[in-house]
Amino acid sequence: MNQPATDWRAAAASLHADGRALVGGQRVAAVSGETFDCVSPIDGRKLAPIARCRGEDVDAAVANARRAFEDRRWAGQAPVARKKVLLRFAEKILGARDELALLETLDMGKPIGASLHADVPATARTIGWYAEVVDKVYDEIAPAPDTALALITREPMGVIGAIVPWNYPMIMAAWKLGPALATGNSVVLKPSEKSPLTALRLAELAIEAGLPEGVFNVVPGYGQEAGEALALHMDVDAIGFTGSTRTGRRMLEYAGRSNLKRVYNELGGKSAFVVFDDFDDLERAAKTIAGSIFYNQGESCNAPSRAIVHERVAERFVELVTAQAPKYQPGDPLELTTKMGAVVDEVQLRTVLGYIDAGCNEGAALVTGGHRARVDSGGYYVEPTVFAGVRNEMKIAREEIFGPVLSVIRFRDEAEAVRLANDSTYGLQASVWSSHVDRAHRVARALRAGTVHVNQYDEDDITVPFGGYKQSGNGRDKSLHAFEKYTELKTTWLRINPR
Ligand code: NAD
Repeated sequence: MNQPATDWRAAAASLHADGRALVGGQRVAAVSGETFDCVSPIDGRKLAPIARCRGEDVDAAVANARRAFEDRRWAGQAPVARKKVLLRFAEKILGARDELALLETLDMGKPIGASLHADVPATARTIGWYAEVVDKVYDEIAPAPDTALALITREPMGVIGAIVPWNYPMIMAAWKLGPALATGNSVVLKPSEKSPLTALRLAELAIEAGLPEGVFNVVPGYGQEAGEALALHMDVDAIGFTGSTRTGRRMLEYAGRSNLKRVYNELGGKSAFVVFDDFDDLERAAKTIAGSIFYNQGESCNAPSRAIVHERVAERFVELVTAQAPKYQPGDPLELTTKMGAVVDEVQLRTVLGYIDAGCNEGAALVTGGHRARVDSGGYYVEPTVFAGVRNEMKIAREEIFGPVLSVIRFRDEAEAVRLANDSTYGLQASVWSSHVDRAHRVARALRAGTVHVNQYDEDDITVPFGGYKQSGNGRDKSLHAFEKYTELKTTWLRINPR
């Protein structure tokens, strides 16, 4: 792509994306020849026809992945050799930064600045980090008697099906690809039908970097077609799934109905942001929650969508958050200064507006936002929205909205704060804001969530595990713990003759 980096509209106008599947190292049409349209939520423009993969395409991808695994063209390479290829893959991702960022923004609506400065670098860092660690992890020897040697080793599982959502298409794919490829597995990736373009490009870059053909395949298509076929496949050893809790439940059923493949679910959230009246910088807390709930148009699994605030400071907190809203008014996602872009499609727009109506009907106070924006653009935009006077029983406090909508709920004392925060079917993330060290620790321990932040919400790194308690999922993406998902643990006993 030879456009100057800032001329994003011109680059978008001349974009020709290839929507064919990638199977066995080759770009291929779906066996049926069918396609579906990839439409940009920015302006409703058709971006490319996408291969509509179904069972027969998934069969071909899994067969290629299995062949690649069995002949050990990748698994049989020394860790240091796999490291070199994956480091080159990470470099190629950074080298294609502008192209990948543009594809991501056009495909799912996030601001180009976020795609450029967050999504592409995080994707490259994930692949690079797993590359760097794979020749530095050791297996174990058990404390056995003199007459035996007991080795405890990790082996690649085989063929991994990765099924990912549309909110961070590249990063979610990389969280599966990094640990799965580093440990020698083959992967069949099913991107969301709403955002398939970057996954297809990533697979091409991996092959250019030297990943052998068949090790990384991409089958775009609908969930109930390509996704279901992959999750039901008898020759897939594990599914790494990120998406809604509703679909995660299905993943477990598919495994039960097929080969009991391992299922690792990373699901939805309704994260609590608990603010005590002893916290000494309410403005920073307000800025942080605005920056997190409105980031990515509110389409983040870990978005702090429930602010649980002490009654003495709740009114002031609402004023401070509301004062942040103008910064996040939706803008053209192709402008570098835009902070909030388009929601992913018309269905999501209707869902978010439906929740806003539900909040009003249940008696919550709509303080700011609440409407569709930028209607003339032909795209799908929602104003940053804040509800005060929310009760935790209300639909907007219980269900994941996945849009730029914040609910503010009041509490009286610490016990009530903890009870409200934990009164959710989800347990992905939470935070506590308090200047009292004892209280901060006490509440952080009591919060039932996979990640708890204290007096901040934005720290994140590939070095730490990410995943949820309760119906937010099982297993963990990121960090060395992700290796547990894509490897089998083997014990090998050897007899040692004492003489
Ligand atoms: P989704 O469950 O609708 O779809 C996710 C993926 O599953 C897509 O690729 C889709 O095509 C596929 N799919 C859908 N139905 C299927 C079926 N019946 N069989 C097989 N595959 C099927 O979720 P979404 O709307 O794409 O993503 C949003 C959800 O993802 C939110 O709930 C969000 O919280 C969650 N999420 C979680 C994390 C995490 O790490 N915990 C990260 C990002 C997003």
